[in-house]
Amino acid sequence: MKDEYAVKKTAAIVLAGGKGSRMNSELPKQYMELCKRPVIYYALDAFEKSRVDIIVLVTGDAVIDGMDEKTFCGKNIIERYGFGKVQSIVQGGKERYNSVFNGLSALSESKNDIELVLIHDGARPCITTELIEKCIEDARQYKACVAAVPVKDTIKVSDERGFAKLTPDRKLLWQVQTPQSFDFNLIREAYEKMISDTERGNITDDAMVAERYTDTPVKFTMSSYKNIKITTPEDMMTAQIFLDEKNFGKF
Ligand code: C5P
Repeated sequence: MKDEYAVKKTAAIVLAGGKGSRMNSELPKQYMELCKRPVIYYALDAFEKSRVDIIVLVTGDAVIDGMDEKTFCGKNIIERYGFGKVQSIVQGGKERYNSVFNGLSALSESKNDIELVLIHDGARPCITTELIEKCIEDARQYKACVAAVPVKDTIKVSDERGFAKLTPDRKLLWQVQTPQSFDFNLIREAYEKMISDTERGNITDDAMVAERYTDTPVKFTMSSYKNIKITTPEDMMTAQIFLDEKNFGKF
């Protein structure tokens, strides 16, 4: 049977923009050292070793070691660790969605025929090639997918005064992560609509863009509780445990 995707490419957008102010660190969290490598190394390494063909790295606008962030990443991350799939390094924007839009625009402008795109927070270093594989398979089948795990805790919605208002049925609740994987044209068009929508409000993930601006339902791809996002200093300790387990004796 002919594989209609064989000649088309799968791309990844790895996000390393933003300030990460909850880390209380001068150095943006994506470049802090974790198990002898910068945090961002791990996500790039997983995509480099996966079936993904092209990686776009999106950075912030900090000055690090006297270099602008793009130059710093090019020299100290991409060249240093030999990430050959990184096709471009682009400047991010004010909000996460601006950074994703810039990454999607860079992919549109490239000459590649892209079928699927996986959008990943560079601040999630515990991503595995197995999860990337599942995201690719699901994106082919469903066109819009988000890595997620069922919530373990009871979640409540509060009123404005800090009192419990309602308790949604836990069986239906998912904790959403990245990669969020999509048919490339579907998410690119959805992002274009979102960017020109002055009523867009607070957009916190890519699935929201697909939910609001397309008719395609977003499928959950079962992920792992270890695929944490580094947000506050204690997350570094947790990530270290998971990475030590995965990379034992490697570095
Ligand atoms: O700030 P938060 O942890 O939610 O960011 C999630 C991911 O989005 C991080 O990997 C961060 O580098 C990225 N981001 C970005 N551009 C922004 C804000 C966040 O690329 N303006």
